[in-house]
Amino acid sequence: MPIHEKSLIRPENLVTHDQLEIDGVDVSGHWSTFIQSRAVTDYNENLQEEIAALPGGEYIHRCWQCGSCTNACTVNAVNPDFNPRYWIYLIRMGMEDELVRDKDIIWQCVSCNKCTYACPRDVVPEGVMKATAHWLELKGYTEKSPSTIFDEGFSAQVFERGKIEDGKVLRDFFAKTGQPLTQPWLVAMVKGLILRFPVAMLMKLGLATFFRPKTSGWGRARDAINEYVEEREAANRKALGLKAHGAE
Ligand code: SF4
Ligand code: SF4
Repeated sequence: MPIHEKSLIRPENLVTHDQLEIDGVDVSGHWSTFIQSRAVTDYNENLQEEIAALPGGEYIHRCWQCGSCTNACTVNAVNPDFNPRYWIYLIRMGMEDELVRDKDIIWQCVSCNKCTYACPRDVVPEGVMKATAHWLELKGYTEKSPSTIFDEGFSAQVFERGKIEDGKVLRDFFAKTGQPLTQPWLVAMVKGLILRFPVAMLMKLGLATFFRPKTSGWGRARDAINEYVEEREAANRKALGLKAHGAE
C-alpha cells in the first residue's frame, strides 16, 4: 500500500536541481523535485508477530489503514511526526529500520485512547503504541522510559506486599531517574496535605513510611503472581528471538 503523506517523505530522499532546463523550460528548484527510490532489503518478516506477542499489540493484524487513529490523535495534533497509522503500516510491512528511525517519539503516546475509540476495526492502537514502545526497549533500541521505570517500581511493591506505600514509589522513582526529591510540585502537594489532612491520617501516612503496609496472607498470591510474570517475560523474550534473562 503506498504512503501518500508528504510529511512522511524524509528530506534526504528529496532531490532537486538548482539549474535544470527540459525542452527549453526552466524547471530549476522545487519544480524538479524527485523522490529518490530505495530498494528495501532489510525486512523483518516476523515484526508483526513480535509486536502482536506483547500486551496491547494483539489486534494489529486487523488494521486497514483508514487513518482514523492518526486523525484523532492528541499528540499528532501538536506533532505531525507522531503517526500511529504509519507505524502500524511499517510494522505490518516488516520495515524495522524505518520504524526504528522514529524511536525517540513513539514512546510519547499519552494513552488518551482517542485512537482506540476512533478505530473502526478494534485494533486498539493505544495498545499497539505501548507494545511498540516496549518492543523498542526489549530490542535495545531505546533506554527504559521513565514510565517503564515507574511501572516497575509500582508493580514490584504490589507483587511483594500486596499494597503500595506512595512515598516509597516516588522516592524510588526519583532515585532511579536521577531527579531530586524536592520537586516544586511535590513540595506544594505535601504542604497542602499537611494543612488539610486530619492529624490521625497524617500519622498513619508517616508510620507507613517506616512500617510498610502489607496485605495479610499475601505470600501465596505473591508466589503465583511472580510465577506468572516470569512466564510472561520469558514468552515475550522468546517471541522477539531474545535470550532468556540469565542465559549466556
Ligand atoms: S492513545 Fe496515544 S496514539 Fe492514541 S490518540 Fe492518544 S496519544 Fe495518540
Ligand atoms: S483507526 Fe484502526 S483501522 Fe484505521 S488506521 Fe488506525 S489502527 Fe488502522
